[in-house]
Amino acid sequence: MTRNSNENNSSIPIVGHLINGKVVHREGIIHDVYNPSLGLVEKKLQLANHQTVLDAVNSGKKAFPEWRNTPPIKRARIMFNFLKLLEKNSDQICDLIGKEHGKICHDAKGELQRGIENVEYACTAPEILKGEHSKNVGASIDCWSEFQPLGIVAGITPFNFPAMVPMWMYPLAIVCGNCFILKPSEKDPSSTLFIAQLLHQAGLPNGVLNVVNGGKESVDSIINNSDVQAVSFVGSTKIAKYIYTESTKNGKRCQALGGAKNHAIVLPDANIDNAVSQLIGAAFGSSGERCMALSVAIVVGEKTADELVLKLKKNMDRLKVGAYSDTENDFGPLITKEHKEKVISYIDSAQREGATIVVDGRNVKVKGYDQGFFVGGTLIDKVTCEMLSYKEEIFGPVLQIMRVESMEKAMEIIDGHEYGNGTCIFTRDGEAARFFSDNINVGMVGINIPLPVPVAYHSFGGWKNSLFGDLFAYGPDGVKFYTRRKTITQRWPSSEVREGVEFSMPTLK
Ligand code: NAD
Repeated sequence: MTRNSNENNSSIPIVGHLINGKVVHREGIIHDVYNPSLGLVEKKLQLANHQTVLDAVNSGKKAFPEWRNTPPIKRARIMFNFLKLLEKNSDQICDLIGKEHGKICHDAKGELQRGIENVEYACTAPEILKGEHSKNVGASIDCWSEFQPLGIVAGITPFNFPAMVPMWMYPLAIVCGNCFILKPSEKDPSSTLFIAQLLHQAGLPNGVLNVVNGGKESVDSIINNSDVQAVSFVGSTKIAKYIYTESTKNGKRCQALGGAKNHAIVLPDANIDNAVSQLIGAAFGSSGERCMALSVAIVVGEKTADELVLKLKKNMDRLKVGAYSDTENDFGPLITKEHKEKVISYIDSAQREGATIVVDGRNVKVKGYDQGFFVGGTLIDKVTCEMLSYKEEIFGPVLQIMRVESMEKAMEIIDGHEYGNGTCIFTRDGEAARFFSDNINVGMVGINIPLPVPVAYHSFGGWKNSLFGDLFAYGPDGVKFYTRRKTITQRWPSSEVREGVEFSMPTLK
């Protein structure tokens, strides 16, 4: 945790928890939440202890019996009201995101919009929960499957999308009839808490959504609580593995989405100008703090690589890094001072290991924001698979270039990486694109689309060490994750029919 001069200022607001419909403050360790543009403490956060998590779970348990029996259309109507409140309060939400995360307002608007699309999908609750019905599977026998809620389910979310990632989870879980415990990132909790309050204004009964702010203690209390039936996690791979292992060991359903290293392949026939602008947006947008950020471009052919690097360099001269509030800026600071140092250390290591630093963002200065956690856009050429900066996720505004002689070699490199979240190919060759999307071992693929984040009515997830569990997040997989199937077979024989005793396995001849 970074220390600075204003940390003892008692006028700094304290963020609490949302339990049973009310914001509550509890005893607990206090954590600093920074404004990364200024490098100053913006808020203080109470880290939830075991008892606070228990209170949240108990509040959910109390609300569940009535909520599970609330007609899906009524649950959906609350989501329709919620949508209106999200639109109405979007400026305030984006300001809260910008202050604590640092992303520029237009980027925060984009994040919010992608979250809103998940709420729109949740509005289709009566349709998605219709179930399946077969009449006359035997004489006077009907069979149907219905999708019942699990009970108390939980979500643990990362700092980089404080509005969107929680909205991947709780709107859908809630309309499916569950009660939800949300544990947002302790680094930027305010927008998440504010949005949860809006959902209550929209008519959500108390206890259906509880928010506990905290760190490891609160997470451990959630994953060890026997009333919690399922856990959705999004964050780094190390923690995703831990959450998945512990949750499943405790008998819970778990989906844990982890880190990433997303590669683009640039073929010689690609529209290079288009690839350049797409790569710049996808590598540096949100300071590269996106799990779908394109952080590596594998270029086929030296001539193509030379042209691409030259054009990237030229276009990167125009990149503007600065505070979240200035919409002229392209991207903002990194989340913490520690993270800034880590990103710089990866650039240092690439240089030490023999890569070429074409554009260096290590010493960027932002006028008026001397203490901010800024790193400028960085372009590194001639990167190889052995380098540390290639092997690990940097999560910063750094684009690495690799040079290969064929598409097959590029695909081999991608398949050899431990992560398999997103990838993209830039080409005009339909056959090559089809071969790539068909064969690459990555969960989300773009063809001339640098950030192939699936829309809300598909589902999001990676392969390999980017996801632990069987189901992707949100969309149709989300419905499966937050419900369990019950299949009912019924017979109403006519009163005249008398049936004999049957000892063999029932078949429907
Ligand atoms: P993180 O793993 O540090 O934190 C995520 C959550 O886990 C937070 O709520 C945090 O409080 C909690 N946590 C942290 N340490 C813990 C511990 N030791 N025990 C229990 N809980 C702990 O991740 P982050 O830094 O907030 O987010 C960035 C990471 O998230 C990147 O690796 C990024 O790729 C990944 N991410 C992945 C996706 C995806 O969909 N695959 C989406 C967004 C972010």
